[in-house]
Amino acid sequence: MLEIVPVKAFKDNYIWTLRSATDAAVVDPGDAAPVKEYLAREKLRLVAILATHHHPDHVGGVAGLLEERRVPVYGPKDEPIPTLTHPVSEGDTVRIAELAVSFKVLDIPGHTRAHVAYYGADSLFCGDTLFACGCGRVFEGTPEQMYASLAKLAALPDQTKVYCGHEYTLANIGFARKVDPDNAALAALETRARRLREAGRPTLPTTLGEERAANPFLRCLEPAVIDSANKYLGARIADPVRVFAAIREWKNRS
Ligand SMILES: [Zn+2]
Repeated sequence: MLEIVPVKAFKDNYIWTLRSATDAAVVDPGDAAPVKEYLAREKLRLVAILATHHHPDHVGGVAGLLEERRVPVYGPKDEPIPTLTHPVSEGDTVRIAELAVSFKVLDIPGHTRAHVAYYGADSLFCGDTLFACGCGRVFEGTPEQMYASLAKLAALPDQTKVYCGHEYTLANIGFARKVDPDNAALAALETRARRLREAGRPTLPTTLGEERAANPFLRCLEPAVIDSANKYLGARIADPVRVFAAIREWKNRS
């Protein structure tokens, strides 16, 4: 039975660890130390590493993990990650036989040039592209690319569990409530997220159904979100890419 647990790293990163009773794969190990500690404590054998993008807080621990054990390292083929053994892109499948699980690779550029997501077992590992009630900054791509990438993820089934790279949920909800103040789904998510954080627990995963209902960056066609974007810009726009770009810029400045 596959279990997915977070290993915490740095201030707010999660290194998602897929595990059985004996084997484990990790997604985005920015730091090797907490992963090594977890694997040793749980007596697990590392069998694969998956990377979503090249930022050091996602791949900085890969080399350290490989010192102990050579395992396949999957990651975006068009990003500078020297430790990759299996470069992947849209249409590829990553099969981890030891965990009896397969993931489809999705290209989701925007945060970085060739960011990928892994989708399988009703779960989505989306790095810094989609966050709970938010999205990543557009560093290397364009707003058009980021919007298309988010739309691609939003088209996955409602029950898909969203495992993103950071615990940003409460801050994201604070901003989302400015954009979409009367959204009841958002208010419900805030109540749950506060309770979880007060108990010292992760707010993740959320589901894609919840994100579609509450995440303003997936709701750029909703009148309330369009109105807020227009108020921010002092203009009248309705094109979803421009709405997306406006609220992304607004969040960067807030
Ligand atoms: Zn990043």
